[in-house]
Amino acid sequence: MKKNKDIFSLPSEWISEESKQIVQSCREIVEKEIFPLRLELDEDWKDHKIYEKLLSKLMLDFGWQCAPWPKEYGGFELDTITYCLCLEEMDRGDSGLATAADCGNWAFLPILAPKPNEVLIKKFAPIACQTDKLFVGCAAITDERGGSDVENIDGTHGKYIATTAVLDGDEWVINGHKLWPTNSGGVADLFAVFCTTNPGVEDDESFAIIYVPADTPGVIQGPPYQKAGMSGDKNGDVWFENVRVPKENRANPKPGDDAIAARLFMNAGNIGASAQALGIMRNCYELVKEWCDKRVVGGKILKEHSMTAAVLADIAMTIEVCRSDTYMKARMMDNPEPYGIDPSGVEFLAKTRANKLFVTDQMTILINKAMDLMGSHGYAREGHIEKHWRDSKIISLWMGGRGLAKLDIARYFYDCKTF
Ligand SMILES: Cc1cc2nc3c(=O)[nH]c(=O)nc-3n(C[C@H](O)[C@H](O)[C@H](O)COP(=O)(O)OP(=O)(O)OC[C@H]3O[C@@H](n4cnc5c(N)ncnc54)[C@H](O)[C@@H]3O)c2cc1C
Repeated sequence: MKKNKDIFSLPSEWISEESKQIVQSCREIVEKEIFPLRLELDEDWKDHKIYEKLLSKLMLDFGWQCAPWPKEYGGFELDTITYCLCLEEMDRGDSGLATAADCGNWAFLPILAPKPNEVLIKKFAPIACQTDKLFVGCAAITDERGGSDVENIDGTHGKYIATTAVLDGDEWVINGHKLWPTNSGGVADLFAVFCTTNPGVEDDESFAIIYVPADTPGVIQGPPYQKAGMSGDKNGDVWFENVRVPKENRANPKPGDDAIAARLFMNAGNIGASAQALGIMRNCYELVKEWCDKRVVGGKILKEHSMTAAVLADIAMTIEVCRSDTYMKARMMDNPEPYGIDPSGVEFLAKTRANKLFVTDQMTILINKAMDLMGSHGYAREGHIEKHWRDSKIISLWMGGRGLAKLDIARYFYDCKTF
């Protein structure tokens, strides 16, 4: 029988030997550095004394900071499948930290795909691919007015984006107030600011993603919020007050292309969120297995009660099926041609939204089942399940939540016009 960690099916023919080694190194770092500290991490939500060290372990020692960048700059140019497998390992350990590490890279995707922006790649890749200094990105999407409206690219086409960018000579002047972005609260070095060049207008050409270094005059950050969990991810307010950056800092120079890049960015985010959920579910499987292998109830070990075995089967079944669809979507992203999809198109948006919403909903159900089986021990810090319970719920809520996910699905599959 395979070991617990490798027990769930994967499309092995899509995973190279090199990828397997990368994932194995990630697993080793997570098990050595994160697992032993897990019970101390939540108290560190504000100061990030431990988290800062752990983020460095992942971004620098493991080299995660290089993951998305082209090989010619020293990057790893990881494919989506390998990237997701690493995210699974990180989330087995701590999903807040995994979120910080993932979003630290995710913010750069709009300059890497679908149309690589050579000017900005040359500008940022050499800094990101250094291995002695953190270089963390932050995708500043959610406006004070709301998050879903910015992410509802195909329903509102930027109409309700509140953060503005005005071209003044060779510079963009940015004004706005963002909330919640991962790696705000003083962590990020560079913001990808989702904004509009024409407020109140429904037009993809006005949809802009502009890169702003965190130390630019006029960028002001508030302290991190205290949340139910996800302590490894700092989230706070960011104000942009007459912030000036060079014109070249727009992700895509041609108006309209930023909206396309934003859709691909959402698609990658959906698949990544599912991989995160899978990592959490796999760790719940490990924890609950260990518990039910030993705990004796009514004179026999817990897993030998048929009512327990039925729940354990549900847990394994959920992971098995969710993993299959997630790596199917990751494969489609990496190799779209045979599937006839455009990785930045509305069809793929609907399909990745469906995957993310389904997988994250299943995760929420699975964690509850795991906690039920573990009783009070599951509810206690020492049981580790309660951390996943608190950390995980947001994964189904971010990126426009359940509502926007359903709208994007219905719009594609049923031609609904609703927005
Ligand atoms: C840990 C964490 C990490 C985060 N990371 C980031 C990040 O990296 N970058 C970033 O910018 N933000 C981030 N966020 C914010 C998050 O993405 C937003 O909170 C989320 O997108 C929803 O936006 P909102 O809270 O403003 O809710 P709203 O947009 O106000 O939505 C409220 C409700 O309406 C539903 N809804 C959405 N659209 C429609 C519609 N058209 N019609 C009807 N109902 C609709 C939603 O599903 C939701 O249920 C993060 C938040 C947390 C807690």
